[in-house]
Amino acid sequence: MTARILEKEGAIKASKELVFENIAVEGYEQVIKISNKKTKLNAIIAIHNTKLGMALGGIRIQPYKTFNDALMDVLRLSKGMTYKSAIAGVGFGGGKSVIIADPKTAKTEELLLSFGEAVEALNGRYICAEDMGCTVDDVMTIRRVTKYVTGLPSDKSSGDPGRFTAWGIYRGMQSALKKIYGQESVKGRKVAIQGLGNVGLHMLEYLFWQGADLILSDIDEEKAKKMALKYGAKCVTPSEIYKVECDIFSPCAIGGILNDETIPQLRCKAVVGCANNQLLKEDHGKMLKNKKILYAPDFVVNAGGLFNVSAEVLKDGYNPIAPRDQTDRVFDGLIAIYEIADKNNISTNEAAIQLADYRIQYGIGKRQETPYFPNI
Ligand code: NAD
Repeated sequence: MTARILEKEGAIKASKELVFENIAVEGYEQVIKISNKKTKLNAIIAIHNTKLGMALGGIRIQPYKTFNDALMDVLRLSKGMTYKSAIAGVGFGGGKSVIIADPKTAKTEELLLSFGEAVEALNGRYICAEDMGCTVDDVMTIRRVTKYVTGLPSDKSSGDPGRFTAWGIYRGMQSALKKIYGQESVKGRKVAIQGLGNVGLHMLEYLFWQGADLILSDIDEEKAKKMALKYGAKCVTPSEIYKVECDIFSPCAIGGILNDETIPQLRCKAVVGCANNQLLKEDHGKMLKNKKILYAPDFVVNAGGLFNVSAEVLKDGYNPIAPRDQTDRVFDGLIAIYEIADKNNISTNEAAIQLADYRIQYGIGKRQETPYFPNI
């Protein structure tokens, strides 16, 4: 995918220092480079598609090596959000943002506030939330200058989406087991988890108490060892995790990890995890199919957090019951996708994309009520 930077074309300015530059990318409604020399903000907001509602997606803060790396990431992630929202039926479109900065050293209050100013200037076309490198405290800082923020803390609203995402992954694992063995129970099933972060740790709890046999890996090997002790699990190195013979391999760390190099190593029956953009290329979905590995499309199985933040913008206020029930039904959504894939002899990823495209084309699940952003 190539993108052409149209310098200063159509540039708008929210404040003197904040500069917007449109980047023309085919297939995307709007991609904007945002910079502020004073606060050292260097960010991109990508709005992929708003046919079903305003674009919603997290803010990823990462020290990308090049601007183009950041651009490619935000494009892939925002498109994924369009598909995720379309399948989930939450009445949002797809968007995402990246701030090019090291979240450990360069995430200042001024930087976050100037990013918030940019979100505010878009007047609700893009609604932000947390993502990697961006915490609940950070979105609260951004919330000081714009109301177009979700993922607010639990004393104010929906709180950490991780437990919802994790429950959706757990239900996704059950759907895969049901499809493969005719029984959904995880008891005695081998589950190999890559990445023990926010989602991974919630998932561990669910799996442990339901009797799964766990194999763990994290680049933070100390953390992996600690968790292995806590959950009676086996621990392997980050490179060994792909080769583990298991029922389910669960990628819960980074994207692009299902590729030409890793797929031949896999000895699992299914892949079910929360990481976004797990397939490096769409064709890798076919490669998994050819290896008879059942793949739960990431943007379907990891929608729990999206259900949860979507419940924030209701007039009656946040209530976790509806998103809990929606997350639980991830099981049924996946069973339907496995069936579509089987009937049409296509990969599960292609089936999910076709379903999402159909819903977007016919406006199925289009938002009827304007999102309500409470005063906090
Ligand atoms: P996190 O940052 O809390 O955790 C990621 C974990 O993965 C960390 O422990 C990190 O050390 C580990 N890790 C990083 N690279 C690794 C590698 N190569 N091998 C093994 N471990 C590695 O993130 P999270 O909130 O748990 O989210 C995990 C993934 O799921 C991300 O890709 C995120 O975009 C996606 N996701 C998260 C949510 C959510 O609700 N948090 C929702 C949808 C999708």
